Amino acid sequence: MKRVVIVGGGVAGITVAKTLLEGKMLAEITVVNNTPHYFSGPSRPLIITQEQSLDRIVRSYEEVARRGIKVVVGTVYSIDPANRVVKLVGGYTSDGGLKELKYDYLVLAPGIVLDGSQITGYEKYRGNVLNVYDPGRVHALREKVWKAERGTVVVYAPKAPYRCAPAPTETALAIDAVLRYRKVRDKFRIIHIDANDKTQPPVLADVVAEIYKKQGVELVTGQEIVEIGENYVVTKSGEKYQYDILAMLEPNRTPKFITEAGLGGNFIDVRSPQDLRSPKYDDVLAAGDAAGLPFPKNQEIAFESALFAANKILEMEGLSYRASVQYAFLGWAYVGNPEGRLETLSVMFGLDFTSQPPKPTKDPQPKREYTERKDAWEQSYLKNLFGY
Ligand SMILES: Cc1cc2nc3c(=O)[nH]c(=O)nc-3n(C[C@H](O)[C@H](O)[C@H](O)COP(=O)(O)OP(=O)(O)OC[C@H]3O[C@@H](n4cnc5c(N)ncnc54)[C@H](O)[C@@H]3O)c2cc1C
Repeated sequence: MKRVVIVGGGVAGITVAKTLLEGKMLAEITVVNNTPHYFSGPSRPLIITQEQSLDRIVRSYEEVARRGIKVVVGTVYSIDPANRVVKLVGGYTSDGGLKELKYDYLVLAPGIVLDGSQITGYEKYRGNVLNVYDPGRVHALREKVWKAERGTVVVYAPKAPYRCAPAPTETALAIDAVLRYRKVRDKFRIIHIDANDKTQPPVLADVVAEIYKKQGVELVTGQEIVEIGENYVVTKSGEKYQYDILAMLEPNRTPKFITEAGLGGNFIDVRSPQDLRSPKYDDVLAAGDAAGLPFPKNQEIAFESALFAANKILEMEGLSYRASVQYAFLGWAYVGNPEGRLETLSVMFGLDFTSQPPKPTKDPQPKREYTERKDAWEQSYLKNLFGY
């Protein structure tokens, strides 16, 4: 029986495993995930406005295991593609020891790491760096936003590509909504510093600029943060911004063990968006945010790349099943609530990559209905992947 090892039990990893089962591949499928639970991304910004709670977006792997997928809790720290070996250290629902797994196919789907190592002062002041990307830090950010009486909030987006293009804007506008709700908005400055020449995704940049103007969120574009101090950040052009609350997303990249194995730089090299094999190894594939694709990094693209990766394995195994897939997505970006009600509104946007240039869709009119649709979409993903 063939052994498939999948690194990362997130959207992409579980989709690959499920699709291989659907394709009737006779294989021992092992998913390695560094935690015994999964924490969904899309609605995390609503933790700030207290419209979302952790229990609705955390899932464990029991149902995944019941489908016949072996789930190992551990952190992969090294791979040896020449000898087809994955090395990991067990997590707290394991014996905690070092292990090696041999494979016939390896799928790398660990998502991204937040890497601030190139920013001066980051190691010293990383405790000040909050954002919506990490479960602990989003709670710390919420605490600060609900307790602070006055000051300056700096929100930062690094150079694209990073995971979930609108998340920094969503963060700024969630904070704006809470401060309005608390009737202290006039005691705060909110400054969004963006390393890109427009807020991301570009298709919504005009909508965001308009909302920011109306709601007094200051926008600085084309400025990369290169230094963090105790209460200030400095951009590449030497401008200094004081902060009391720093909601900063660090640059995104794949974990270093991927670079060390010669499989890519910031993201994993693949042959093409449809053929996610490493250019060097037929039996090593990438999927999800970790893959070096010419598309935004979001859940739909992660899912679609996983279907392409699974299809390629099925093809190499001579099996006939193929999941139906193409690259296109529709999404909803939270835009806060200008009246300071804790009822977040959203705008809709999308891109269809099946035509050239990619066809954009958008409805710039903020609606409550879009926030509700995003919730239903996220919950249905979780049910589909984790069984509940
Ligand atoms: C705040 C936020 C908001 C978002 N909003 C949206 C949105 O509105 N719309 C949208 O489409 N997408 C959104 N996304 C993006 C979406 O969540 C990701 O694109 C998607 O989860 C990527 O799937 P993935 O499988 O590549 O990575 P993940 O789902 O992150 O899964 C990777 C898994 O690998 C595990 N892992 C990592 N390293 C290791 C290791 N060394 N060893 C073992 N396991 C490891 C991780 O714990 C994780 O479980 C958002 C994400 C965040 C964080």
